[in-house]
Amino acid sequence: MSTSPAAEAAKSLSGVAAEAARRRTFAIISHPDAGKTTLTEHLLLAGGAIRAAGAVRARGENRRTRSDWMKIERERGISVSASVMTFDHDGKMFNLLDTPGHEDFSEDTYRTLTAADAAVMVLDAAKGIEPQTLKLFEVCRLRDIPIVTFINKMDREAQDPFELLDEIASKLALDPAPLYWPAGSGGRFKGMVDLRGQRFIPFSKPSEQQDGHPDPVPMGGNSLAAFLDEAERAEMEEGAMLVQEASKPFDPQAFLEGHMTPVIFGSALRHFGVDELLAVIGAYAPPPKAVAATKNGAETKVEPGDKEVTGFVFKVQANMDPNHRDRIAFLKLCSGRFQRGMKLKVQNTGKQLSVNAPTMFFASDRELAEDAFAGDVIGIPNHGVLRVGDSLSESGTLRFQGLPNFAPEILQRVRVKDPLKAKHLKKALESLAEEGVTQLFRPTLGADFIVGAVGQLQFEVMADRLANEYQLEVIFEPSPYAEARWIIGERADLEDFAGKHRTAMAVDIDEQPVFLGKSAWEIGYVAERFPKVRFDRSKERA
Ligand code: GDP
Repeated sequence: MSTSPAAEAAKSLSGVAAEAARRRTFAIISHPDAGKTTLTEHLLLAGGAIRAAGAVRARGENRRTRSDWMKIERERGISVSASVMTFDHDGKMFNLLDTPGHEDFSEDTYRTLTAADAAVMVLDAAKGIEPQTLKLFEVCRLRDIPIVTFINKMDREAQDPFELLDEIASKLALDPAPLYWPAGSGGRFKGMVDLRGQRFIPFSKPSEQQDGHPDPVPMGGNSLAAFLDEAERAEMEEGAMLVQEASKPFDPQAFLEGHMTPVIFGSALRHFGVDELLAVIGAYAPPPKAVAATKNGAETKVEPGDKEVTGFVFKVQANMDPNHRDRIAFLKLCSGRFQRGMKLKVQNTGKQLSVNAPTMFFASDRELAEDAFAGDVIGIPNHGVLRVGDSLSESGTLRFQGLPNFAPEILQRVRVKDPLKAKHLKKALESLAEEGVTQLFRPTLGADFIVGAVGQLQFEVMADRLANEYQLEVIFEPSPYAEARWIIGERADLEDFAGKHRTAMAVDIDEQPVFLGKSAWEIGYVAERFPKVRFDRSKERA
């Protein structure tokens, strides 16, 4: 792999900026079953973060509700920390962010993607672009995250590779730039041509894979005959020629701007194409960028090489250790050199934290790092001080643009079976809402709570967690509400509106007023009658 522009630039920098420039922080997006978990495992293997791959086997019934890391952890019996895995490989520091697999967790996934600087899009070679891939792709596009495409399961019968590339171009409006071209698929899968290196990378049959795949051989030479018969070779060479004529050559700049995606074919399960994928991420995926922020109210840009340590919380996870009520806030660093024991301030509350026990997520047999740089993610144990969207910095004056909360799509009333535990329920619900996974609304009238979620599964998970972590048996019931809107406006206008809609008013966990509508039609109706009030589908945390 030739050196990338980013690698060249890194050489001329020093210290903090150089460390940031060698970071590659990325997430994997895919439709369930395309092979994200398997690819994750094999990327960790390729990066030297774990030593041996165990086949990812049958799923437990809870699989849908668990993170992919937990799945790997359970099935392999190793300790992989949740949410992010860091490994140092080939001069680069990779941070692979975990995203939950099921679509009901799209909000959580969205937030994790706000911390990613690049994404790997995994497609099942037989299925192409599936609905969930498309949804996640759109999130990446909103944030201009560059995407590397990995077409997985080439060891199974696949669609015609030209059709797959066409689908990327037409459905995603993205120029596919294949860096490799496959020879066959399924039982006839023989390997791939490195289109830029003019090498052939042979794929060996599953029964012969104990020692890995054979070494690449030059194209054009006689050694190819050991792997391909004449017809296979002709087909592959024709395809490779055609695709190079038909597609634009890979342009790293177009990739960084989100117009082009480099495409690699492979088989995660057979560890084929995975080393190449990691090399492409290392060479071309961007290091963390400058981030827009405000400092004491004035607009500014935070550069990864800036001296002040800054970052934002993109995820809060409770009860990673069932014996402790601790929560871990995941902080994506945006600048500076973070060191263990450092004091950081939360911008919106002014609270100061001594970060004495940050968790850094190295593979099990590595030492914990003592410092971290822009692009890295650190886990900060805390008791509810940190919330999703918080900005942290040494001065406490820096604020990154907030992370949006989405209007939930399902609103249900929650009741606890034992009425004596009502108070306990309130605390538990608040604590779960603070993780940012579900939303909690307290109606102005009445004592019930309304829980909002993006999908039905979230209610099941929540009931489960309330039972296991808080010993609360709860019942979710339909509520009369279908839509929630944050209302924004002058105080007098808000009071006027709220006074006339007392039965439909609620507050969220930050005590911000929310209107609960029975239908989208009703929202439209009230919005017309109260033009001075804004009805927002999402809000940024204050
Ligand atoms: P996820 O839902 O995207 O995390 O998908 P998994 O990684 O759990 O994979 C789904 C299924 O596809 C599992 O049975 C995997 O063993 C299988 N799988 C993943 N990658 C490959 C591959 O490259 N080839 C084949 N034949 N199967 C694969």
